[in-house]
Amino acid sequence: MRSRTANRSGIVIRRRVTPAGDIIVTMLTPQGKLKAIARGGVRGPLSSCLNLFHHVGVQVYQGPHNDLASVKQAVLEGALPTLAQPERYAFAHLMAEFADALFQEGEFSEQAFELFAAALRGVAHQTDAEWVALVMSYKLLGLAGVMPQTARCARCGAPDPAHPDPLGGQLLCGDCAALPAYPPEALDFLRGVVRRTVRASIEAPVPAGQRPALWRALERFVAVQVGQVQSWRQLVPLAPAAQG
Ligand SMILES: [Zn+2]
Repeated sequence: MRSRTANRSGIVIRRRVTPAGDIIVTMLTPQGKLKAIARGGVRGPLSSCLNLFHHVGVQVYQGPHNDLASVKQAVLEGALPTLAQPERYAFAHLMAEFADALFQEGEFSEQAFELFAAALRGVAHQTDAEWVALVMSYKLLGLAGVMPQTARCARCGAPDPAHPDPLGGQLLCGDCAALPAYPPEALDFLRGVVRRTVRASIEAPVPAGQRPALWRALERFVAVQVGQVQSWRQLVPLAPAAQG
């Protein structure tokens, strides 16, 4: 294998500092995910550049034997300072983990990057960051091709289910369900969010009181279909199910 240098531009979705002072970052780029190490980065100028949610241009070097590419240079191309606000940070962090879990190198990378970048901007700037995060999380799922089934009961296949599925995060019919049906707004959201435009969904927010059930459904669905996403814990206070 030959060594090579490449220039990439993307958003830092994961950042870890090793005991040796190296920074290991995962970036989402239009060409897919990129994982790279900045050796000794904590003590150098790369440290402030390679921060979570920063949009950076990096020059990476892939050595002949190293699995992990090394970051040689990094230039800050964009930052969203309001993401430092605790509530926005929690939602941005959740979406970053979400994107990390959903997307690999390969197809849909460019769309995934665009959608994720738009999601971060929305969480940074919109008044209702929670709503943006909820809409964009479902849109990211849709883009990844992992969508909750809404036309048929997840257990028996009966049409037009309207009740929560506490185990799988999908929808159940009245006969299969133990919980009362979703209110109309939440049900309409679940049925329509993946195919609707982001704008249409953002402009029709579900009342705040109905959102914990939507987060819970998303958490269950993702846990079953994709795997655990650590950041749910930060959002747990928002979800009444987690309080009991
Ligand atoms: Zn059923």
